[in-house]
Amino acid sequence: MSELFDYYRPSLTVRGIERRFPARRVFCVGWNYADHIKEMNRENVPEPPVFMKPADALLPGGGEVPFPPRTRDLQHEVELVVALQGGGLNISAEEAMGHVYGYGVGIDLTRRDLQSEVREAGAPWEISKSFDYSAPVSTLRRASSIGHPAKGRIWLAVNGAVRQEADISHMIHKPMNLIAQISTFFELKPGDLIFTGTPAGVSRLKPGDHVTAGIDRVGDVHIRMGRLRA
Ligand code: MN
Repeated sequence: MSELFDYYRPSLTVRGIERRFPARRVFCVGWNYADHIKEMNRENVPEPPVFMKPADALLPGGGEVPFPPRTRDLQHEVELVVALQGGGLNISAEEAMGHVYGYGVGIDLTRRDLQSEVREAGAPWEISKSFDYSAPVSTLRRASSIGHPAKGRIWLAVNGAVRQEADISHMIHKPMNLIAQISTFFELKPGDLIFTGTPAGVSRLKPGDHVTAGIDRVGDVHIRMGRLRA
């Protein structure tokens, strides 16, 4: 019973302060960099697709990722993560940035094989995107200390080899527009996180891989792919 009444409450560390950021929901968007849309053989769309991961899929600060079962094509997607301190319904792009608490570096781990299968079947995305440990996120940095980064290198390396490298200025839909768009569907709340999409270069991970990802001025995160659990 102690586990039931004292369950794990997802939160992220914040550079420079003792208190942790209480994670509420994890929203994600897809298809937000032209080069990634191209590598996935998709078309650009006026509104990027929105999906969610459960907050307890977060792996705060990175670390060991037990290798997810039932996939033969686990892939990495490095993304700028926006952390909200405010919210609302139908937030305008103009007021959106006032709701941003800070930023982090996230890795949207994806079972690419299952994503293709469920897409073709017209089935929900959760088994491909929203599994345990699927959302490693770095320590957050506060907007009050770094501002709102509009450009800067975003990259990810596997075992020291750079696989993804781009600039966050290449995002088709900027964080202010994503906040506005998502808030037309959901009343955003303090503690909500938004993964803002990945650039090209996604590739397959295997047990034992070391993955490091970073964004200029925001930070970096390191994960190690563990073994498949029995
Ligand atoms: Mn993604």
